[in-house]
Amino acid sequence: MEAIWLYQFRLIVIGDSTVGKSCLIRRFTEGRFAQVSDPTVGVDFFSRLVEIEPGKRIKLQIWDTAGQERFRSITRAYYRNSVGGLLLFDITNRRSFQNVHDWLEEARSHVQPHSIVFLLVGHKCDLEAQRQVTRQEAEKLAGAYGMRYVETSARDAINVEHAFTELTRDIFALVRSGDITIQEGWEGVKSGFVPNVVHSSEEVTKSDRRCLC
Ligand code: GDP
Ligand code: MG
Repeated sequence: MEAIWLYQFRLIVIGDSTVGKSCLIRRFTEGRFAQVSDPTVGVDFFSRLVEIEPGKRIKLQIWDTAGQERFRSITRAYYRNSVGGLLLFDITNRRSFQNVHDWLEEARSHVQPHSIVFLLVGHKCDLEAQRQVTRQEAEKLAGAYGMRYVETSARDAINVEHAFTELTRDIFALVRSGDITIQEGWEGVKSGFVPNVVHSSEEVTKSDRRCLC
């Protein structure tokens, strides 16, 4: 049966090359930790449903940069049609933390007139012994930018669900309050649908869909 969701949110994942963006997305969407080989062109996208409250599902469409971040050549289109983002650094790589500001500036300059709700993510938290960025300073930076901060590990599946779910909840609250609105020609938020009539065959046709918004 067709998946039923209230909204679809499009998210991006940004941060320096090798901080673990692709592995985090794979862990979340495929439930496993695997070495990821980036395709050489284009972007990859993945999707998954999350249940933010009992019976309330949101479909996430998550875009991966497919290696362009190495050359800082991520296009405007990548940012512009997104409502949310995970901004990653690697807790064992101080340089990637220092670059958080530049990533945020880049995103903000590309995303006008929209804005993106970001979550700051300190990734590879399983490598505690090699930590170069304290939780305290990362929380301080996140606070200065009005973001939440979460530490994750794709390898050990720590806080992966939590990171995506918290961001989804924050965006959902902004949609509910009217601070974020669905707009024609913008892919960031789309309204979902539920079947009006559930057929015995469990097939839902287009005419049976009822827009929720
Ligand atoms: P991207 O360039 O940001 O997409 O980074 P990748 O997802 O390709 O990961 C870069 C490297 O970091 C790979 O060698 C991964 O195996 C490793 N990596 C990714 N996530 C984790 C993690 O949670 N813990 C550890 N220890 N290594 C990770
Ligand atoms: Mg990658």
